[in-house]
Amino acid sequence: MSKNLKEYYSKRNPNKSPEPQGKLVKKPGKKPIFVIQEHAASHLHYDFRLEIDGVLKSWAVPKGPSTDPSVKRLAVPTEDHPLEYAGFEGVIPEGEYGAGVVIIWDTGPYENLKENETMSREYDEGKIEIFLEGHKLKGGYALIRTARGKDERWLFFKMKDEYADTGRNPVETEPESVVSGKKIQDFKR
Ligand code: MN
Repeated sequence: MSKNLKEYYSKRNPNKSPEPQGKLVKKPGKKPIFVIQEHAASHLHYDFRLEIDGVLKSWAVPKGPSTDPSVKRLAVPTEDHPLEYAGFEGVIPEGEYGAGVVIIWDTGPYENLKENETMSREYDEGKIEIFLEGHKLKGGYALIRTARGKDERWLFFKMKDEYADTGRNPVETEPESVVSGKKIQDFKR
């Protein structure tokens, strides 16, 4: 088990939650992936996860992503998740950590836009620039750390490019899972 995933496993009971427990080993040569999971827990939010060094680095984005470069969304870091979590949607039972419904709101490969830096270095420096190839989200996105320590905060926003679109609002208009076509409301808790 990755040391990075200790917190993930410590919060979950594998006998009660259907969330992934394994440690998927990635096939070499494949592009890294991102996933955005809509999560109806005590508060509705969107979990943005990026594959970096064999785990999913994770942020909770309360308002979800925007395709408008002038809209910068708060992103609060959460514990690393195992790679297989990118394929998870379903119900986390009452009483378990994160109880509620999770759907795969968007997913796909991504590319590092900084030619001379590794993703782990960008993460450490708090300045990530990536190109998403999702179903709903495409083009350059940035994650910038604005506060460190106990109250670590980041901003997540669309970079200016040909895929930027001030007229779209996919969080409102495209609520379905890109995997199952289901919405949050289609799951029985
Ligand atoms: Mn969550």
